[in-house]
Amino acid sequence: MKLLLSLLIFLLIICKTSFSQSLSYQFPEKFNQVYNFKPDEAFAILNKEPLKGLTKEQSDKFRINNIYNTQYEFDNNQIYLDWGQAEVYLMRLLDTIIPDTLTKKKNLNVFITRDPVNNAYTKNNGFLFINIGLLANVRSEAILAYVIGHESGHYIFDHQYKGLKKFYEAYYSKNFVLADEYFAFKRKQEADADYFAMQCSGKLGFNLKETAQDYEMNDMKRRLYRYSRGYANMVKASQKTEEAIDRQKSKTNSSSSSHPDDVARMELANKMQLIYKGSKKYLLDSLFFTRLRKTAREECKKIYFDNARYEECLSIAFVDYLYDSKNLKNVYYIYESLRRLMYIKPKLKTMGFLLDGIEDDELFYANKSLLYKPDYLFFDVLEYEELKNHSFFTVEKKPFNTYEQAFHYFSREALKYNMNEANFSIGLHYYGQKNNDSVAKYLNKYIENGSGLNITFAGNLLKNKSPYIEGNKWIVIYDNSGNYTGSSYNYYQARNKKSVNPIIRKELLQDTLNTDLVFINELIGTQPKLLAQMQKLESNLFKLYDEDDVSNFKKVKLKTKENIEELALSHPFNKHFLILAPEFYNWFAENKYSTLFLVEVVHQYQDFLGGKEEYNTYTGYYQEINGKRPYFKDAIRNAFLRKQTDQEIVSDLNKFLYVTE
Ligand SMILES: [Zn+2]
Repeated sequence: MKLLLSLLIFLLIICKTSFSQSLSYQFPEKFNQVYNFKPDEAFAILNKEPLKGLTKEQSDKFRINNIYNTQYEFDNNQIYLDWGQAEVYLMRLLDTIIPDTLTKKKNLNVFITRDPVNNAYTKNNGFLFINIGLLANVRSEAILAYVIGHESGHYIFDHQYKGLKKFYEAYYSKNFVLADEYFAFKRKQEADADYFAMQCSGKLGFNLKETAQDYEMNDMKRRLYRYSRGYANMVKASQKTEEAIDRQKSKTNSSSSSHPDDVARMELANKMQLIYKGSKKYLLDSLFFTRLRKTAREECKKIYFDNARYEECLSIAFVDYLYDSKNLKNVYYIYESLRRLMYIKPKLKTMGFLLDGIEDDELFYANKSLLYKPDYLFFDVLEYEELKNHSFFTVEKKPFNTYEQAFHYFSREALKYNMNEANFSIGLHYYGQKNNDSVAKYLNKYIENGSGLNITFAGNLLKNKSPYIEGNKWIVIYDNSGNYTGSSYNYYQARNKKSVNPIIRKELLQDTLNTDLVFINELIGTQPKLLAQMQKLESNLFKLYDEDDVSNFKKVKLKTKENIEELALSHPFNKHFLILAPEFYNWFAENKYSTLFLVEVVHQYQDFLGGKEEYNTYTGYYQEINGKRPYFKDAIRNAFLRKQTDQEIVSDLNKFLYVTE
């Protein structure tokens, strides 16, 4: 439990200056009941009869999404909880721009979503969600006010429900005219929300040119997108055909787009500016706005890092480093992301820096880094303009080319600032290279320097040549919160699954003194901080081991005699999740957990309310921390066996864990 705190303190030490200005977010220990919207009660009241114009099933789906899945977002750490100052500021902005004469105003509420994508959305109960990624990128209060106005407009005009009704009409008619009509209807909704937002912020004196510029930038972004990472992936997916380019072009301005094109929106904003003539970029608090934007950027990196999405973390941290090379947190994120990526995917070592996912034969075959073509790096046109003259891009001889060279460049950079943790990272990097001498050299240096978060881990790694925990306790994590109906997540079903926890406990908890059993579904909506830690652990495990690992390591556990092939799997340098994510070591050590067993179960239902399962599957992951190889146990599923009862699943797991051959 102390883990997150100690990481935080570490980060606090390495960048005192930037931290003192930030509003950093902490996961609360306990779930605040103000975020409990009592979905069972709300649902029981509403669900007596189907929504007008919808079938019973469509109506159920709509309500499950709006009532239960909204609650899930709060319960599951997808929304920031109790982030006082940030929430207060956004509510003030909302209160300022929405006229009091609108009776529906009283239902409006703003929340911040823990999603680094630049976006915002609205629910039909008046909840507005602004992604942290939008706050990280928005350039002025005027634009933020416009976004809040636009999303409020969607609620005030009841767009979600009306749009859905139209969607079902089009969907079931198989009539192309209706499909086109549906998209036209959606574009009209967007235009109405735009108009509403521009009226609201125009009246207050906000400069609508800001909004126009934002749309202009979006339009340029889309054109620049052609050179970006995401675009390269898309082209890769469609085998680099010219069609992909045409499709992307047409997407921006066709009858099958749900949003009016940016040029039209830009023109509307310019026209409205002529009417209102506002000049303000800020109205409430420009200083707070800047602090919030800065904090939001830090949060985006942290979210990607915690979700083991090291590629994205690396990209943002690198851009931020170009702006501010003195912020050591960026340096840390860069070299640690690089190390982790190379540990997961060793062939990256010799690949050009940041080139993974980019299709560029010229750079790829020369193992040249992205520094040669910086336009790949930026989504944001202004960022590109501000940074394209950085010396990394202008000098002929680049400071590094490959992922591995970049790792050494940035870890050395950290050592210049006496960040001892970098010695530990270099040691772990050499562990991944199976280079015992260099592991010893850097870990000894790390320990001799005397202070660090991972001193015990480093000492034990030196002594045992693989991660080592003293003690013989088990930690069993059972996650059966995955529930789907069709392609939608179904929190109504997930909550009902809590009723089988006693059956699972009975089978898996053989030795209550030496085993701790954690149910993810008991942490959701109760203990945000512990849940975040478990979510981070799961993300790292799933990132480290792929399908091949699950099938390679599928031998029966605890078999007394293993053949040569199986023994080879126990090589001390095998992938180990504590090498990937060493921040978990202290938690395992404090609790004396030397065995980890994690189970992920996914259920799929036939209809939204009925309990009838269509399909289920599971994967159990077993790891003895002290250097032994992992073992996987997954479900056998085929045309005849599509599901098992919870009792059958957990009996299989019991046999896997406790019955020796
Ligand atoms: Zn919209």
